[in-house]
Amino acid sequence: MEIQIEQIKQEGLALEFEKSVETFPVLAEMVANGECEFAAPIRTALRVQRIGDMVEIDGDIETSVRLPCSRCLQPFETPLNSHFAFTYMRRATDVIEETELQEVELSAENMGIVYFQGQKIDLKDTIQEQVVMEFPLRALCKQDCKGLCPKCGADLNETPCDCNRRSSPVKFAVLKNMKLEK
Ligand SMILES: [Zn+2]
Ligand SMILES: [Zn+2]
Repeated sequence: MEIQIEQIKQEGLALEFEKSVETFPVLAEMVANGECEFAAPIRTALRVQRIGDMVEIDGDIETSVRLPCSRCLQPFETPLNSHFAFTYMRRATDVIEETELQEVELSAENMGIVYFQGQKIDLKDTIQEQVVMEFPLRALCKQDCKGLCPKCGADLNETPCDCNRRSSPVKFAVLKNMKLEK
């Protein structure tokens, strides 16, 4: 996943590679923690362009994960696709102070600029970060997943329970006794 600056020709570079999840420590840790499983390797397609001392990298990443649904807890599979475009600039450490450098890098990152040192760009961190960012915040097996009954724990997608029916008279009784404050 390393790009040698020297190998980027005038016309640019197109690269494709497929890596196992174990190659990415952050993703491997998510699997180890039981947060998800990967149902496919991490596939990356890159277009690399060199402009003087700057390198522009445009990439598409795709994989597939198996996650527990946040409502019914059933595992389901969902594809993760990410597109990124970053400009890599050579970092000149000797010019700026270290603290100043951190500030510069933070604001640069917002503009899609990443600094690199030496003769190569390692894309491992970028790729795993992109994959992590694509994880759904609230994973749902389907848009209208009914979830689990909070009382009996039944999966309401499979078996409608009658907890609701039984509890409704109680709810009405509570409502009747409630005074509305103005
Ligand atoms: Zn669900
Ligand atoms: Zn129930």
